[in-house]
Amino acid sequence: MPLYEYYCSDCKSKFELLVSHQHADDAVCMKCQSENVRRLLSVFAAQRSGSNDDTSYGDLPPAIGGCGCGGGSCGCH
Ligand SMILES: [Zn+2]
Repeated sequence: MPLYEYYCSDCKSKFELLVSHQHADDAVCMKCQSENVRRLLSVFAAQRSGSNDDTSYGDLPPAIGGCGCGGGSCGCH
């Protein structure tokens, strides 16, 4: 059973709960029993991979003296 982290917007507190997937979205606050809680995303799921590579490719200047094939894929270099 996974451990989820929730944030209650009524009493502004975070708490962790062991719930099954079916009941992950209808948890209630441990302190005030409010249903106004939202599940927090894990740090790992929020991380994006490969974003640095994408931006660096966009900054590359056009090939000097190339045939315009954009990186030698035509085999003329
Ligand atoms: Zn609460």
